[in-house]
Amino acid sequence: MEERYTRTYAEKLDAEDTLRSFRNEFYLENEYVYMDGNSLGLMSKRAEQSVYDLLASWKKHAIDGWTQGENAWYYLSESLGEKMAVLVGAQKEEVVVTGSTTVNLHQLVSTFYKPKGSKTKILADALNFPSDIYALKAQLKLKGYDESHLIQVQSEDGHILDEETIIDAMTEEIALIVLPSVLYRSGQILDMEKLTTAAHERGIKIGFDLCHSIGAVPHQLHDWDVDFAFWCTYKHLNGGPGSVAALYVNEKHFGAVPGLAGWFSSNKEKQFDMEHTLTAAGNAGAFQIGTPHVLSTAPLIGALELFHEAGIEKIREKSLQLTAYMVELIEHELKEFDFEICNPVNEKQRGGHIYLEHPEAARICKALKRKKVIPDFRKPSGIRLAPVALYNSFTDVYECIQTLKNIMEEKAYEQFSNEREVVS
Ligand SMILES: *Cc1c(COP(=O)(O)O)cnc(C)c1O
Repeated sequence: MEERYTRTYAEKLDAEDTLRSFRNEFYLENEYVYMDGNSLGLMSKRAEQSVYDLLASWKKHAIDGWTQGENAWYYLSESLGEKMAVLVGAQKEEVVVTGSTTVNLHQLVSTFYKPKGSKTKILADALNFPSDIYALKAQLKLKGYDESHLIQVQSEDGHILDEETIIDAMTEEIALIVLPSVLYRSGQILDMEKLTTAAHERGIKIGFDLCHSIGAVPHQLHDWDVDFAFWCTYKHLNGGPGSVAALYVNEKHFGAVPGLAGWFSSNKEKQFDMEHTLTAAGNAGAFQIGTPHVLSTAPLIGALELFHEAGIEKIREKSLQLTAYMVELIEHELKEFDFEICNPVNEKQRGGHIYLEHPEAARICKALKRKKVIPDFRKPSGIRLAPVALYNSFTDVYECIQTLKNIMEEKAYEQFSNEREVVS
């Protein structure tokens, strides 16, 4: 057997991996090979500790916890926003930790969608995550428009979007554009800089959903002049189930009136004057609504430390090595089994996960789980495998593909039904 396809080779890659010690920061229970960090990242010891610390600050300070203690709750959304800014290439005041992905999308569209004259439509894509599309349709309805005002750019092969086709759809009628940074299925990275430049040349504001790129891929939102962005923190950022999301608003829009206002939109010095006229914060903080979900923010205090220690550029470098290695193994080991690699293979467009299609995907995923490899299934025939730089090893990738090969050789998937689980 050629050396490249052996476990010894995977172990050699692990020995050379400068990020390998970060694996010890995480709970890898039950000897799983966890390949689902793009749906729910693993718990780190730091995240766990920061939750305990937050609980202790409540116990100790009660109401005074808002302004006292190491992570005073009143300023936590802003201070974590500052820490997250490096991950998206933003100025410190352009990011705040708040809400959820979908609520933040509602907030930003409420703020930046200003239909006028014949410029009334929203441009999106046909491959985005359903929640984004539901929110955009709901926002149109609130403004009195029907769904025909949502223009969804189609994909030729059902996996990949062509930036030129998106740009061609930026017509006079478009008032706002919302696109993903990385497509949740195929993992394609869209060229955000190019799309932003094209949108602005046509006088259109543009925002991105970073759910699948945050923590895996570096961004330069400020330099690219992106108008706004939003993302969740429970995928690659490892904030835990339902951890609080974040948003970015370009500083040129500071002062924009938040579409969904609440008292936490306030300038923090003014907030407790309790006036009935809002004086909004002069930064991204203005796009918060109500009292922050402090307990669900707490894990991020610890989780983000790991990103600062490792560095997002290094994380991306290792992520690319892991996915390239995975593609190589798939091509070599699985060639007789009908898998189709549907993610872009080139580095510029390849996000943090691999996306395979197979007619028996649902039950192949069940068979993988039985063998302690955790993938995720996307209806009707998709398998996503996310080797995560901070906690997965090259040996994990090797194990994952070997297990998949064994399942295919033995047809071990035949003992399961080819239907999805309630949560997949
Ligand atoms: C994960 C994800 C969401 C989830 O939205 P929540 O409000 O956090 O439930 C939305 N959009 C995209 C593109 C996602 O990947």
